[in-house]
Amino acid sequence: MDFELEKFKTQGVKVNYYYICKRKLWLFSKGISMEDTSDRVMSGKIIHEDSYQRKKNKEMLIDNVLRLDIVDDEYIREVKISSRMPKADEMQLMYYLFYLKHLGIDKKGTINYVKEKRVDEIELTEEKEEEIKNTLINIKSIENQKNPPKLENLPYCRKCSYFTFCYVKEEE
Ligand code: SF4
Repeated sequence: MDFELEKFKTQGVKVNYYYICKRKLWLFSKGISMEDTSDRVMSGKIIHEDSYQRKKNKEMLIDNVLRLDIVDDEYIREVKISSRMPKADEMQLMYYLFYLKHLGIDKKGTINYVKEKRVDEIELTEEKEEEIKNTLINIKSIENQKNPPKLENLPYCRKCSYFTFCYVKEEE
C-alpha cells in the first residue's frame, strides 16, 4: 500500500521533537509554546554563523512544511549549533529528503555542526524511508492523544523550554 504523505505530512520541527521527547512533541503540537534560548541550546537549532551568512539568501520554505537552510544542486544543507541531538537532527533532515523525493526531487543532505566544525553527510535509504513513514504515523497518533505522554525525566529536561511546565505539574 502506498504511503499517503499528504495525510501524514508535518513540520520538520515535529520530527525533530519526536526523537527528543514525545511529550515535548505533544505540547508543541497543542500550541503550548515556551520556546526560548535554553531550548535552542538543547536542540542545537539553526543559526546562521558568519560562514553561512553568505548563503542565507538560499533559505527556502516548501509547502509551509520544510524550511531548508541552504539548497544547492546536489545537497540540502542544515546548520546546527552543536551535535547534542544527532539522531533528531539526522531524522529531521532525512524527513526533508523523503519529502523532496515525493516531490520528484532527489537530494543528499549535510548537517553543518558549527561548534565542532563537523559536517555529517546524510543519504536517504530504503530503511530510513520506512523509519520516516513509521515516525510520521506515530507523530499523528501522539498528536491525537487527549493527554500528553508521561514525563520521562530525560537527562536534558533541565535545558528544555517546557521544564517548568513539566516539573511543576508533576509536583502537584
Ligand atoms: S522537560 Fe523533559 S519531559 Fe518535559 S517536554 Fe522537555 S524533555 Fe520532555
